[in-house]
This record gives sequence, C-alpha cells and structure tokens, in this order.
Amino acid sequence: MTVLSIEELSAGYDKDLIISGISLSIPKGSFFGVLGPNGAGKTTLFKVISRLIKPYSGVIRYSGIDITSITRREYARQIAVIPQFQHILPPYTVEEFVRLGRYPHVKRFSPLKKADYEITEEILALLHLVEYRTKKITALSGGELQRVFLAQGLVQRPSLVLMDEPTSHLDITHQIKILDIVKNLSVSTGLTVLIILHDLNLAGAYCDRIMLMKEGRICAEGSPGGVLTEKNIETVYGTRVLVKKDPAGSKPHIFFIPGQF
Ligand code: ADP
Ligand code: MG
Repeated sequence: MTVLSIEELSAGYDKDLIISGISLSIPKGSFFGVLGPNGAGKTTLFKVISRLIKPYSGVIRYSGIDITSITRREYARQIAVIPQFQHILPPYTVEEFVRLGRYPHVKRFSPLKKADYEITEEILALLHLVEYRTKKITALSGGELQRVFLAQGLVQRPSLVLMDEPTSHLDITHQIKILDIVKNLSVSTGLTVLIILHDLNLAGAYCDRIMLMKEGRICAEGSPGGVLTEKNIETVYGTRVLVKKDPAGSKPHIFFIPGQF
C-alpha cells in the first residue's frame, strides 16, 4: 500500500524553481531516506509535503487523498513533522512540550483527557525522557532535545513521520538511539518514516529505500545497495568514494578517499 505519492512536483520560493520533476511512491511501513548534498532541495521538498509552502505544480497524495483537501487537524493526526535542529525554543518543560502534540486529537477548547496523558507517558518512556520530564527544554543537550521533538511528533500517533536531519548534531550513541527507536516503531507498528539524512552509512544501515537528490531533482531511487554506488555518489556529491559491503551484513559501506581536492 502506498502511504504517500508525489507526482511531478515542482516548488520553490518567489517563482525561483528549486525542486522539479519529483515523483515518488512511499510504501506503508517503509523507512525511506532522502539524501543529497547541501542545497539539493531536500528541506524544500519536506516543506511542500508538510504544507508550509505551496507547490508550483504537481500533486501530493496521502493515502490517495490530495493533501490540500485534508483539514489541518486531520493532517496533524496522520502526519508528524519533526523539524530540523532549532535554536529558539519556547520555555516549556519536557512533558508540557511533548503533551502539546496531543492537541490535534482533542476537541477545540477542551482539556486533555486521561488517555492523552497516558499516551504522553508511554512516549516519554519509549524515548528515554522520563527523567527529564520537569526540565525546561531550553536546558537540554542536543540529543535530548532531538528526542523531545520526536516525542512531540509521536504522541500525535501519526502513520507517517517526516524527519529532517534528526541526527546531524548528535554523537554516535544518540544517533543510533534515535534511529533505533524510529526503526523499531516502524517495524512493530507499520509507521512510515520519511527521513532526510546526511550520513550515507547511517542511511545505508537503516533505510530500506533511498532517494538521492541533486539540484532539485531525483538522481537515483531504490534499495540502499542499488542507490549508494560509487558512481551515483560521485555524480551527486562530486566526490570519489569507495563502496564496500558491510562485513556484518549486506549493507553498502562508504569509505572516504582523502587527498582528492
Ligand atoms: P537542502 O535541505 O537539500 O540542503 P534546501 O531545500 O534547504 O536544501 O535549499 C535548496 C535551495 O533553496 C537552496 O539554494 C536555498 O538557498 C534555497 N532556499 C531555501 N529556503 C529558502 C527560502 N526560504 N527562500 C529562498 N530560497 C530558499
Ligand atoms: Mg535541509
């Protein structure tokens, strides 16, 4: 089943075309990586999917329905958008901030119910955030903060989650923590994950499909082994690398070649 389908999408800013000819079909339960160099248009694509900007042309369907015809509340119940690292933060505690994610499920002007608190507890535990619950989010480390953003998205109980470089500022343990949590959830509940990643090896290790973008277009799309090839990486990034099979499995592993510039 296709959760998200994108047809011939183009978009940009002030008539400036940034992405074009984007067509994609994202199957339910997939862990779908979006990769490409800085400025390739990855975040712009996410802005269109999350309806922050309108496309110039093309259509995006969620479960077959044009996303422009979905109400804000319904959209927020189905799709969670986890933003890129943020520097300006509201002065909430962790639990307050996470709980805000329940509001799409609450009647207007109504208080949260017992179930909303229970779901919040469940997600705080899942993301190892219980011990931070009364801390202000402005006082967290990068890894903790990234889990708080993810938690706020997950309490929405979405079927699709969009994550924009959730691991970029984190050490390896925190990177793997975040990705393991999301991956396990995807495997156990069928959550579909669309994720922008910088690290090619992390993408190879976690994603079951990968799309490589360059200058606003799709350069390659498919399995990690099929997409993360020496040729594709050189075409897209302009850097030569070596790609070998991970000895622990069959995932592609990328080695850098110093001294080429
Ligand atoms: P990526 O996420 O792949 O690094 P972005 O989608 O953020 O790339 O940016 C793609 C291009 O769009 C860049 O050239 C960037 O300068 C431009 N761009 C991004 N945001 C805006 C904006 N708000 N207004 C104008 N141009 C923008
Ligand atoms: Mg970006």
